[in-house]
Amino acid sequence: MLTPERIERLQSALLEQQSQLQQQLDRLISAAQEANVGLGNHMADDATAAFDQASIISLRRGHELSLEQVEAALHRIAVGAYGRCERCREEIDFARLKAVPYATLCLPCQRQAEL
Ligand SMILES: [Zn+2]
Repeated sequence: MLTPERIERLQSALLEQQSQLQQQLDRLISAAQEANVGLGNHMADDATAAFDQASIISLRRGHELSLEQVEAALHRIAVGAYGRCERCREEIDFARLKAVPYATLCLPCQRQAEL
């Protein structure tokens, strides 16, 4: 059962994740800017710099997606729709939400989705 206390605990976990992701994104953005400055200055390093840029962009994309999921979960808490499976409408296991607080599917539906 998802009691209000449990939802509150999951909410603080989500808020924690949100601020961590935000910090990591900020760091990636300044790393990308530094890589940009380096570009052109050292001709021999251009390939490395380009690679760095690409990996920073994909890392950043990953963080942005996670942040979106975390924010969507916080929104579901705010509107009282949190903790229900999007597919079967059953309540998602608390143990699963503790591991993945932004989960939108219960474990059986998640497994099916991954097939
Ligand atoms: Zn389900």
